Amino acid sequence: MSEPLALHALFGGTFDPIHFGHLQPVTALAQETGLQRVTLLPNNVPPHRPQPEATAAQRAEMVELAIANNPLFAVDTRELQRDTPSWTVDTLEALRQEQGSRQPLGFIIGQDSLLSLHQWHRWQDLLGLCHLLVMQRPGYAMQMPTTEMQHWLDTHRTTNVNDLHAQPSGFVWLAETPQVDISATQIRHRLHTGENCNHLLPQQVLDYIQRQGLYRPA
Ligand code: ATP
Repeated sequence: MSEPLALHALFGGTFDPIHFGHLQPVTALAQETGLQRVTLLPNNVPPHRPQPEATAAQRAEMVELAIANNPLFAVDTRELQRDTPSWTVDTLEALRQEQGSRQPLGFIIGQDSLLSLHQWHRWQDLLGLCHLLVMQRPGYAMQMPTTEMQHWLDTHRTTNVNDLHAQPSGFVWLAETPQVDISATQIRHRLHTGENCNHLLPQQVLDYIQRQGLYRPA
């Protein structure tokens, strides 16, 4: 009998910049679900979308600084190396190829992303590739926006954590993670208006922001 493979999760985001609203709930999620490894995937933002203020290299650098010396986290910059839009489903297909069909894979999103999941490219293929691990986020509805989406959620939801380890994909886990009321938008706004952000993101990231002159008051 071969050894069971440990659940591995991916966490995509713009990370403009990465903050405690990302790091704290993900750390709690790892404890809740027995996750050993979380790979952060900074997104390539397609040209027709509002562009991040930081460059792709700066966003990746901030992620590196935020997770330095933390063995739970790794970073994968493959989406930044593409010049086409980085659809999550394509990245998951590539990772599935690399890691094999038996590897349990989770993709971490916040509650806000769950509510708009039906707008994602080929969203109905996601659960064939991974589990969705959903972190709570203050200010967002718990009910899905349509009865079809709610039905989809009720069909795929599990409350048995063993399912996430025993199956390679196919379940939605609604985590009981702490509600951390922080967004990158709020941080950019505070930095633009010269407000203190010490409690919102790691000091190493703040130091980098200052050194690079990012999100400066106008
Ligand atoms: P912005 O304010 O620029 O839109 P953001 O703070 O929402 O950015 P993203 O990088 O866009 O951060 O988010 C990446 C992922 O992290 C998304 O799935 C989002 O739902 C989740 N997320 C971001 N902030 C939080 C938070 N405070 N609590 C839970 N999930 C979060």
